Amino acid sequence: MSFHSTDVLIVGAGPVGLFAVFECGMLQMKCHVVDALDMLGGQCSALYPEKPIFDIPAHPQIAAMDLIANLTEQAAPFHPVYHLDQQVTGFTRLESGRFRIETSIGTVIEAAAIVIAAGVGAFGPNRPPLSGIEDYERESVFYFVKRRQDFAGKRVVIAGGGDSAVDWARSRAETASRIMGGPRR
Ligand SMILES: Cc1cc2nc3c(=O)[nH]c(=O)nc-3n(C[C@H](O)[C@H](O)[C@H](O)COP(=O)(O)OP(=O)(O)OC[C@H]3O[C@@H](n4cnc5c(N)ncnc54)[C@H](O)[C@@H]3O)c2cc1C
Repeated sequence: MSFHSTDVLIVGAGPVGLFAVFECGMLQMKCHVVDALDMLGGQCSALYPEKPIFDIPAHPQIAAMDLIANLTEQAAPFHPVYHLDQQVTGFTRLESGRFRIETSIGTVIEAAAIVIAAGVGAFGPNRPPLSGIEDYERESVFYFVKRRQDFAGKRVVIAGGGDSAVDWARSRAETASRIMGGPRR
């Protein structure tokens, strides 16, 4: 078991958690950050690192992984301590008024405040109801795009008609040999 004491404990190292480190740092508060993923960046890193984002102030366009790199760099001067690959499993209020949180691998952190930046929590694929689809998931069915290069020169069908489908259709158009798509019914 490892034990730590800090000013602020942040649950989640997604974009919100990372910027919270910066904001706390500006107020001279030290942060520890816990994330269930083994990387910083939350959904941006895990689900769409290469996808361009168009709605970040002062960035007409920025790839998700670059946004996370910038947020990480922005937080770095405040020396956050990251505890990755472990889930916050509970917390208790101590008599002193401070909080004690525990993680799935036994890390214990006491803090004066907790910021919950857990986003959508643990996320997984939203599978369409097609029997046997799991058999294709290693080769040809994907729920997010980690590396655009994996689709270069291929015929790509995008299932879905939401923001992400449009984003990926625009982004894929540069490298795929053909893009087809339509909303799920
Ligand atoms: C495909 C896709 C495309 C998107 N495109 C855009 C876009 O173009 N523009 C835009 O503005 N938004 C976009 N979004 C939404 C955007 O990614 C989210 O709004 C953003 O990631 C939320 O940030 P967050 O830090 O609040 O949460 P998240 O990114 O969800 O991060 C939360 C983190 O908390 C961790 N966590 C949760 N519970 C625990 C726990 N108990 N213990 C430890 N860790 C925990 C998770 O592992 C995760 O890493 C998109 C989302 C998706 C899925």
